[in-house]
Amino acid sequence: MKLIKKITYTLLFLSITHFSIAQTHNAYYQGIVDNCTLLSVTTNLNEFVNHGVKSVGSSEIDNAKNWLKAKYLSYGYTDIVEDTFTTGGSSTTNIVVTKVGLVYPNTYVIIDGHYDTINGVGANDNGSGTTLILEIAKQLANVPTEYSIKFINFSAEEIGLKGSQHYVNNVVNATNPKLDIRLVLNIDQIGGRSDMINDTIVCERDTDNQNGNDVASNLITDELIVCIGLYSSLSTEKSYAYSSDYIPFENNGEIITGLYEKNETLHSHSSTDVIANMDVNYLYEITKGATGAVLHFAVANQALSVEENILEEVKFFPNPAQYFINISSGNLGLKNSNIKLINLTGKIAYSKEVLNDVKDCRIPLVNVKSGVYLLELIINDNKKIEKIIVE
Ligand SMILES: [Zn+2]
Repeated sequence: MKLIKKITYTLLFLSITHFSIAQTHNAYYQGIVDNCTLLSVTTNLNEFVNHGVKSVGSSEIDNAKNWLKAKYLSYGYTDIVEDTFTTGGSSTTNIVVTKVGLVYPNTYVIIDGHYDTINGVGANDNGSGTTLILEIAKQLANVPTEYSIKFINFSAEEIGLKGSQHYVNNVVNATNPKLDIRLVLNIDQIGGRSDMINDTIVCERDTDNQNGNDVASNLITDELIVCIGLYSSLSTEKSYAYSSDYIPFENNGEIITGLYEKNETLHSHSSTDVIANMDVNYLYEITKGATGAVLHFAVANQALSVEENILEEVKFFPNPAQYFINISSGNLGLKNSNIKLINLTGKIAYSKEVLNDVKDCRIPLVNVKSGVYLLELIINDNKKIEKIIVE
């Protein structure tokens, strides 16, 4: 729901930006991005549109909600929560799907967009964002990531960001401790215009001077821009966030970024917001870029996927541990392995390289403070990580 024409700024300062993680083209990410298909995006978009006008309180939005749940189930997700609330006398539901990260399970990358519409079927606003989120969820279903991901389809955005505000108040802040959010990527209205050439996507950052999080939002948006460049054919422009579901998160102090079409539709919130008036190839390109961005933000890690098979017989014990942790490798052997004990802020408390062909080794804990750690063992690109409590 974006009615005011926006002023956008061409990105001039990319070369001086600092990135927290080196952002180079990643062949593993590219392989996943390449699995996104135009057919899958357009099929989902058609189904979304065919559910009709999805206004809060209607049977249409209820059917769309059930359709969304069925989609996530078909992709293999099991943690699908209906976050139901009442607004303006009507009950309505956000759909929240969680994918658990293998290294930082309690820190979340949120990718969200609204699925309610007003006055029309909302092909662009926000069928475009809804189908992008579905496609990313589909492609990432079996991809191991270090951070957890929440895919959220909000309701009641069009009547005042009610769904996202409800979620921030009643889930993010009501969780104890408060939900730890790495960043929020909001997707709203990315369909472009059928009567124009759509080759640029607007990347939105927080510029409101509230909560001291503008710098972090700017950095994350720069990372988003790099990902769009690496994994899609589109150019980018940087602009500011406003009037969509990231705003309640921003007001809560979270780090936000977003995607929004460069050529703004003339049809939002009307009966002519149909697929024929948007550009599905543009939506497909954005989907590829955003898939790369989510893989980057959640730190997809191929090594985590093979740990079960190859490093299954490796055991860490005891846990909790007091004086030492034993690493037993069964018949595998620990030759050329790398062992790290990492605290939850990422600091390495102990590290060791095993060069000899031994089956077992022992980590002394005399200089390690009590607390929760991740014990990481890497052998030949295979990684095993486990949470260890040091007493
Ligand atoms: Zn919208």
